[in-house]
Amino acid sequence: MMVTDAHASPHKIEWQLGRVQAVVAETDRVKSIILEPMSWLGHWPGQHVDIRLTADDGYQAERSYSIASPPEDKLLTITVERVKEGEVSPYLLDELRVGDHLEFRGPIGRYFVWTRSLRGPICLIAGGAGITPLMSMLRHRERSLDRIPAYLIYSARSLPDVIYRDELDGMADRDKGLRLVYALTREQPRDWPGHRGRVDETLLANNCFPREQNPTFYVCGPTGFVEGISSMLVTMGYEPLSIKTERFGPSGG
Ligand SMILES: Cc1cc2nc3c(=O)[nH]c(=O)nc-3n(C[C@H](O)[C@H](O)[C@H](O)COP(=O)(O)OP(=O)(O)OC[C@H]3O[C@@H](n4cnc5c(N)ncnc54)[C@H](O)[C@@H]3O)c2cc1C
Repeated sequence: MMVTDAHASPHKIEWQLGRVQAVVAETDRVKSIILEPMSWLGHWPGQHVDIRLTADDGYQAERSYSIASPPEDKLLTITVERVKEGEVSPYLLDELRVGDHLEFRGPIGRYFVWTRSLRGPICLIAGGAGITPLMSMLRHRERSLDRIPAYLIYSARSLPDVIYRDELDGMADRDKGLRLVYALTREQPRDWPGHRGRVDETLLANNCFPREQNPTFYVCGPTGFVEGISSMLVTMGYEPLSIKTERFGPSGG
């Protein structure tokens, strides 16, 4: 993949309009918005865009959304979870239509990124909508011939709250190098064989690469989730610098 300055330098990045090509319902509370940028020099999996909404009276609100699509795609996908009484997410979910133009700038961020040139193994740990940047990494990984070993632990409230479930299950079925584990925190099917409740040290110990393999961790989700997982990983003896984190907001997952 070609890496340019624009991937890493938010200061030079101008606002632009993207045309909404599609809006896809992912779960009851989540939709993906597929945008056609006016110009785009590419991104690294893990980067985000800023979205800016402007009201008729000139009032503006800006929020960040991770890019869910891989760098190989021409169109950009963001995936938005509804935050009750939020300013921006309800607009994106309820008002935005195909053909509308959305103001955005990006790509932004140079720390929480992974490309296959960084190698692995990688342990991806998501809480709720925190799966979004990790999905860009997994989609990118899936398009390569030498698939880096990867584990994904994905914490969601219930099975219907799992975003991209069919795609994730398909990836894991096709690929022995990817291990996928769901942790369902609030509601589980009666015969659910997987983890019930929050991600804990036992789940991490059984589903992360051992220290000797020097895995890199990418942990993304609500602030409390990210902080809890990071401190468990450090307690388990993983090198703090190997744990990369992205915090989305105060609650959820
Ligand atoms: C780098 C980065 C990437 C992000 N990527 C994504 C993404 O891919 N998908 C996505 O859905 N969101 C993502 N977010 C969160 C997003 O930027 C917004 O914060 C979120 O959509 C809420 O905005 P809002 O305007 O609807 O709510 P606001 O008007 O900002 O907030 C309304 C109320 O809800 C609380 N709140 C704010 N955010 C959350 C939250 N996440 N959960 C629960 N309560 C909250 C606020 O404290 C406030 O009380 C990302 C955030 C960052 C920093």
